[in-house]
Amino acid sequence: MDPYSIFSDIVAGRAPASRVYEDDDVLAFLDIRPMTPGHLLVVPKKPARDLAELDPVLGGKLFQVGQLLAAALRDSEVACDGVNFFLADGVTAGQEVFHVHLHVIPRTPGDGFGLRGRPRTPPRADLDYLAGSIRGALQRGR
Ligand code: 5GP
Repeated sequence: MDPYSIFSDIVAGRAPASRVYEDDDVLAFLDIRPMTPGHLLVVPKKPARDLAELDPVLGGKLFQVGQLLAAALRDSEVACDGVNFFLADGVTAGQEVFHVHLHVIPRTPGDGFGLRGRPRTPPRADLDYLAGSIRGALQRGR
């Protein structure tokens, strides 16, 4: 594990951030390059590079705080109509800061944010095959 990231500096108070929430385990602050106004990041205080390194209990806490923040965003002057959660795990997924973090992104109509993709419905047999493969991986991981 690489213990250094800009988010570790923010957690330690060595780098500035516009903080909105803090408890013993988690810190949330505004993203410096927001996708939409009010875009927040929720980070564990104990650094983990990615999901594989993250204590699942702490992962649950990130989601729990994300829920709290989603409600606060709707009630604040951000006054969003909706919220997206986003988490990039790995370079290919778009992760840039290797201190795991949950994006909480407020949404308003026409804000321009969205996921790009080319979803198509595969044959059921293909879905079942992959489901079996993933079930196998889950069993091996137990
Ligand atoms: P990722 O692509 O790793 O999921 O997202 C990293 C996020 O961290 C980006 O949205 C980026 O704007 C944000 N970020 C990077 N450096 C800083 C910083 O120093 N302060 C804050 N508040 N956000 C940062």
